[in-house]
Amino acid sequence: MPQLMAEETFTLNKIFDENINRKLGIALVGLGRYSEEQLGPALKETSYCKLTSIVTGTPSKVEKWTKEYEIPPRNVYNYDNFEKIKENKDIDIVYVVLPNALHAEFVIKAAKAGKHVICEKPMAISAKDCEAMIQACKGANRMLSIGYRLHFEPHNLEMMRLAKQKVFGQVKKVIAEDGMNLPGGTWRTDKELAGGGPLMDVGIYCVQGAIYTLGTNPIAVTAKEGEKTDVERFKEVAQSIAWTMDFGNGVTADCKTSYAENMNLLRAETDKGRFELSPAYAYKGIKGRHEMKDDMYTQPMEVEKIKSQQSIQMDDFAKCIMNGTKTKVPGEMGLRDVKILTAIYEAAKTGKKIPLAL
Ligand code: NDP
Repeated sequence: MPQLMAEETFTLNKIFDENINRKLGIALVGLGRYSEEQLGPALKETSYCKLTSIVTGTPSKVEKWTKEYEIPPRNVYNYDNFEKIKENKDIDIVYVVLPNALHAEFVIKAAKAGKHVICEKPMAISAKDCEAMIQACKGANRMLSIGYRLHFEPHNLEMMRLAKQKVFGQVKKVIAEDGMNLPGGTWRTDKELAGGGPLMDVGIYCVQGAIYTLGTNPIAVTAKEGEKTDVERFKEVAQSIAWTMDFGNGVTADCKTSYAENMNLLRAETDKGRFELSPAYAYKGIKGRHEMKDDMYTQPMEVEKIKSQQSIQMDDFAKCIMNGTKTKVPGEMGLRDVKILTAIYEAAKTGKKIPLAL
């Protein structure tokens, strides 16, 4: 089986040799639901970074945010004057939390303004855009990471450990499902802004979950789009899609995603039984269990308690910048995943098995 992407050398100098006491300043770009309900609150819990700036196209949001997070007026930007962040020393990191199709433009502008970047998933709506984003950050010698919060979540880390250490034997199969019942009429069902439907949005967690559980990249995919029972709501994007990732040596991951059905599962099967998370991809309340054939009982998965995945994720990135070390969720991982999503769409469209060269 192919190994995960080769480690790349990272040449960034430590940015704080002497000034390590200062928390790195983060600018949130796009004050939608994820920023408001998750990232903002998580930034109150971080130790190595804090919210110092906001970028929004909605002036009515400014008062609440600036009051709640004590952000001075000079650190408030909109999408037209965004590039002026270049002159602002209060901003070290730009966190792009916009609709998917806008990620590339703002990541590239942030890098050109000399800022490190966190970009939400999916990294972009095409591999070409992802490559341009990586190049822009490399060219500016800035770090780029993707908002893959589950790489910092104890249950998902435990899935990786159990599989890697073969605690219950070799994982032969992964089952991954992520879906929700989404109301229509938002950018998420607008093909131009979203780039696709549930696969781009939540199905990406199944791709991620299968890969980090198996610790290796898939070599091919097959896929089938589900029937549209609500043609009006899903005029532009798929309602659901099911796909299988082939990891070689008979190891597969069966996955599905939907914008019309609630699902949330990451399961690993071995000869002895299975271990799984359900819900697997939530912000809170993730639960895990082992169910082995020779054991009468289902055992709950015990892991350490954390405050929030997002605060750990953002602190980790800040520490990478401070120490000049690499992030474990780099732009290259975002690019890999967008290549896989693209192949899944192609497989669904053509009915063919699409090989992957990752
Ligand atoms: P929302 O629709 O809640 O917010 C998006 C925000 O983007 C808007 O509020 C607006 O902010 C800004 N925006 C700028 N241009 C547009 C436009 N043309 N149409 C709509 N909004 C626009 O989305 P989310 O916050 O849920 O998602 C944002 C990104 O974060 C997506 O890429 C999504 O995939 C990702 N995400 C990641 C999650 C995770 O767990 N890692 C969870 C949820 C989302 P303003 O008014 O300030 O300009």
